[in-house]
Amino acid sequence: TASPAFKRALSTSRPALYAAQAAIPRTKLFINGEFIDSKTDKWIELRNPATQEIVTLVPEATPEELKYAADSAAEAFKTWKKTSILHRQRKMLDLQLLIRDNMDRIAHSITLEQGKTLADARGDVLRGLQVVESACAIPHMLMGDTLEVATDMDTYTIREPLGVVAGITPFNFPAMIPLWMFPLANVTGNTCIIKPSEKDPGATMILAELAHKAGIPAGVLNVVHGARDTVNFICDNEHIKAISFVGSDQAGHYIHDRGSRNGKRVQANLGAKNHGIIMPDANKNHTLNQLTGAAFGAAGQRCMALSTVVFVGKAQEWLPELVERAKQLKVSSGFEADADLGPLISPESLARVERLIESGVKEGADLILDGRGIKVQKYEKGNFIGPSILTNVKTNMECYREEIFGPVLVCLNADTLDEAIDIINKNPYGNGTAIFTQSGATARKFTNEVDAGQVGINVPIPVPLPMFSFTGSRGSIRGDVNFYGKSGISFYTSTKTVTALWRHEDAEANVSAVNMPT
Ligand code: NAD
Repeated sequence: TASPAFKRALSTSRPALYAAQAAIPRTKLFINGEFIDSKTDKWIELRNPATQEIVTLVPEATPEELKYAADSAAEAFKTWKKTSILHRQRKMLDLQLLIRDNMDRIAHSITLEQGKTLADARGDVLRGLQVVESACAIPHMLMGDTLEVATDMDTYTIREPLGVVAGITPFNFPAMIPLWMFPLANVTGNTCIIKPSEKDPGATMILAELAHKAGIPAGVLNVVHGARDTVNFICDNEHIKAISFVGSDQAGHYIHDRGSRNGKRVQANLGAKNHGIIMPDANKNHTLNQLTGAAFGAAGQRCMALSTVVFVGKAQEWLPELVERAKQLKVSSGFEADADLGPLISPESLARVERLIESGVKEGADLILDGRGIKVQKYEKGNFIGPSILTNVKTNMECYREEIFGPVLVCLNADTLDEAIDIINKNPYGNGTAIFTQSGATARKFTNEVDAGQVGINVPIPVPLPMFSFTGSRGSIRGDVNFYGKSGISFYTSTKTVTALWRHEDAEANVSAVNMPT
């Protein structure tokens, strides 16, 4: 929080300003098992989105610091890759316990830096923790294939770690998404560098501290900070063999292209525009409750938010009730016990969301609920916007084409299920989708014909549990190996196939095997 001295200094002399800045906590780097102060002269201000008070200054790590992280990770790999699978499993068992014990502390950091409600922040941690819990089953997950080809010959596979891998994460799930990455990377024998979002690195710093406490050795997990220069370093560094990225299209395309060009494995989960189809035979109460939560929860800043809905036939008549439910949601600081949704991440993000709503109105949509200009008591400076609903939206409007990433529900109408599926499949994104219906046959047809990575049936945000993988289709993904689950293990390992011959008889004298062995 900005101290009174800092606030005073803003209007006074430069030396006083520097002295006050020195009092603001600075986020550290975590390299080679130590939390270190960056020597950079480039600092990014991180403000509480509900109050605009400065929480911390985040460093843009220097080239020397980044090199130190990559070199440390490369050095640590030499010994970490030789540890037994049971040793690495033990570290995950200890880590999951520590995360559970520190759940509230991590959630507090998320609410402070990112803004989502405390209850939602706990969900953010829990969904990541589940990945760590699944990583505890690593001996089973890493089992390869074995075949006795003949009585004297076996073929078997071994999954080996890649080396140093890196993760670049977005602001919207500060705990869950780093936890999609480093636990599986480390438990499969890799060393890892995480670059969390510069907008909310606090959760990752706590996770690094807990990993350290769990006995994950120096250099096995490192955390660096920064923006474009740090990302470029990760894309170019020779030690780094693979990059996991989650975030926007613009950054993801850039990182996928640059990392791939440098011969790295890159998995990139990108933007989304998730559609729900509401059939007239759906359970109305369940559907409206789920829709309200999935469109406006976390202020719409979820990649799996159900931000677009297609009402089929008479389901359109439920709109007034949807508006009533949305109006009941309380907008406030995430620390307020009765808050349903908190602020957006930044004033720029707020301005963008407001502009997209306005563009919808200008292009002919009906704004039947307008959350702009909302006043939140005690938090007048926060980046708040209330739930907003645009109806009669057409697919050529900007508010339909753009990912809004705010508490804005965009509604379209269709006469038939076929028409609704067609709308979804023509949208460039393919992250998640959901249908609300009581007909198994309708749900089955939808599942077969819709082109999206995650499909929900009467489930609005079908984020897969970690025994499955988080998938994606079309514009929502670059690279072809998914996050966590079996795909996650594949991403962080390469397969070696061994064919072994152990024969008792003597070799046939003087017969060289020059033909292709069969
Ligand atoms: P973002 O792309 O702005 O930032 C993500 C990361 O990339 C950050 O670490 C940031 O420092 C870095 N970055 C940002 N711009 C960059 C650039 N031009 N060049 C290089 N690096 C850059 O994303 P965000 O705003 O933090 O997150 C929101 C986006 O993430 C939304 O589009 C959302 O849909 C998407 N997302 C997708 C998933 C998924 O699984 N599909 C999950 C969560 C979020």
